[in-house]
Amino acid sequence: MIVTLSTPVQYLKGVGPQRAALLEERGIASVADLLAYLPFRYEDRIRFTPIAEIVPGQFHTVLAEVGTGGGSTVRFARGRAPVFHVTVRDKSGSLHARFFHGAYLEGRLKQGQRLVLYGRAEVDPYRPGRLEMVNPEIELMSGEAPSDSTEVGRIVPVYEAIGPMRSRMLRRIIYAALSNFDGQLPDPLPEEIRKSFRFPTRREALMYAHFPPKQESLALLNSFRSPAQVRLIFEEFFYYQLALAMRRKREQRAPGIALRVREPMIRDALKRILPFKPTEAQKRVLAEIAADLEKPHPMHRLLEGDVGSGKTIVAFEAATIVIENGYQVALMAPTEILAVQHFLSARHVFDRARYQVDLLVSGQKRAEREAILARISLGQTQILVGTHALIEQKVNFERLGLVIIDEQHRFGVLERKRLIEKGASPHVLVMTATPIPRTLALTLYGDLDLSVIDQMPPGRTPVVTRWALDTELAGVWEFLRREVARGRQAFVLYPVIEESRQELKAATAEYERLAKSVFPQMRVGLLHGRLKNDEKDAVMEQFRRGQLQVLVATTVVEVGLDVPNATVMVIEHADRFGLAQLHQLRGRIGRGSEKSYCILVAPKAIQGEARERIETMVETSDGFKIAERDLKQRGPGEFFGTRQHGDAAFSFAQPLRDHELLELARREAFRLAENPGRAEEVVAQLEAASPTWQKRYQLASVG
Ligand code: ADP
Ligand code: MG
Repeated sequence: MIVTLSTPVQYLKGVGPQRAALLEERGIASVADLLAYLPFRYEDRIRFTPIAEIVPGQFHTVLAEVGTGGGSTVRFARGRAPVFHVTVRDKSGSLHARFFHGAYLEGRLKQGQRLVLYGRAEVDPYRPGRLEMVNPEIELMSGEAPSDSTEVGRIVPVYEAIGPMRSRMLRRIIYAALSNFDGQLPDPLPEEIRKSFRFPTRREALMYAHFPPKQESLALLNSFRSPAQVRLIFEEFFYYQLALAMRRKREQRAPGIALRVREPMIRDALKRILPFKPTEAQKRVLAEIAADLEKPHPMHRLLEGDVGSGKTIVAFEAATIVIENGYQVALMAPTEILAVQHFLSARHVFDRARYQVDLLVSGQKRAEREAILARISLGQTQILVGTHALIEQKVNFERLGLVIIDEQHRFGVLERKRLIEKGASPHVLVMTATPIPRTLALTLYGDLDLSVIDQMPPGRTPVVTRWALDTELAGVWEFLRREVARGRQAFVLYPVIEESRQELKAATAEYERLAKSVFPQMRVGLLHGRLKNDEKDAVMEQFRRGQLQVLVATTVVEVGLDVPNATVMVIEHADRFGLAQLHQLRGRIGRGSEKSYCILVAPKAIQGEARERIETMVETSDGFKIAERDLKQRGPGEFFGTRQHGDAAFSFAQPLRDHELLELARREAFRLAENPGRAEEVVAQLEAASPTWQKRYQLASVG
């Protein structure tokens, strides 16, 4: 049977309807999809390690057979999962292997069965001097001789299992597909790029990535840097970046509003609103923004900086330039609390400039709302702050010149677009408090120019962070009492509002307990998301004014509340919070000149990622470092709470692992986009070659 790219997997040798259904669940419907399912590891099965030459602590691939004399057994220990034991041997010696939950192996590993084991060899703790492998990966060999060339005598690809389909089965299916392939495999990567990087053709790259030639370096393969893999990674990035680059070219050609920037009047206005000396980073970023605003094309810029780095004031400076030019500014925030916070600081900052600042959120009184909508459409509102309410149909600006979007990743791409469309090509400034590593910013916001505030305002003392055990709470409360006695304020945070079935302490119940019996002599307040808006505002205002000394709260304080006198933050069940969230929360303290303390309360027994999160928090307060760790733990999709971007666009490439290739691909893609005619040609070739790529391309071109 002749196989082509569009052959459904079901018709392949070794795949029937059942397996086809399993593959389809993974998005593998055609041979084209199957070929894109690349190995995650390779094994050298040309030279197996003789058992006698195994080095403890290192990974080895061993070809052996199940030994004689009661070679394998399952042992059941009381109350534990059964453990399967087997001794294998080759000409040089014998090796013991243990498999937890290994009962399924019983009967399959008969005496004399040939098998390949891959794993780390260790000295058996129960029998020093004997080597063993614990839970090695194994593959049973068929027949006497190595008849099947997919199994031994070559560098063998290892695939991630798909349900019950193990690596060996997938390897056979892919091998069969490739052996019967008819050779039509278009290569849409521009010839000039392929030549200049000496990339293999797409066909060669796919063949080699699945079944590398014998002389290929195992180390290169396993670090995803063989020529075949490099090409495949490059091309995934390249097409995505090309889509971004072309979109950006269109935007750059679009007519926009050229603003006056270098006039004394504007310099004066900027001086009037600034209550302090800007940091060097703030100055640099403002200059970048101002240069954009001067151009007759819309700005599309991402402003990135850690919590408290002073992004807001820079955004207000940009707003000042726009307003002095006679245009309106819209600032959209993801939550009402944050919108109100921005509104209050905008009113404060712009008070001396006498700008008309308005707030638009849901749930305002009707008359008030009508009045605000009227001011907006008459052009009287100079800066409008609000939530999603801003993108409602009734909101009509007279002359919208700048859109500022805070906390970008919480908004969908389409929401961003809808606000922008309320103006005639307004300038756009997107702010994010999640410090995204540069490589990832390129992937996710590749169509935006990037400005980074990488410096904190002066006069901050770094927050001291400690891990306290839940058994040490009494001491924690004592510490909090002492700080409050010195005139400071404190947050006490919980992950949930009301008592649930889980044994988490809930904010409401703890608030009552803390207020009554732990801090009876202090003024304690409660803040959580289910309070009515005016109740929330009242509580925050009391805390801001120092009328409350302790604020018991849920994560609603994550954004916005700016109280320099708050120097203590106790987070209970800290192991339940994500890393980025802990960092955002901690950003609420350390905002004044007094030393601040963040105490993470978590049980001694926490393990794994939860423990790593707490340890990371104790170790560093560098938002970029924390974001990078968080990203590694969770992957970009979950990190941003959305899968509409980046992550989903790549099946093989990984932005963090492959960042040099990402940057290379980006450079090449943006260079190609300089020549729109040629770029369109490449996209047309790409679309003809692969319908699934087209989907990805569209994904990149939506927002
Ligand atoms: P971000 O929005 O990046 O989290 P903000 O703009 O809210 O940070 O700034 C945090 C705090 O630091 C605010 O109280 C702000 O007034 C103050 N601040 C910002 N820039 C400076 C500066 N250059 N010098 C002193 N204080 C500053
Ligand atoms: Mg902020």
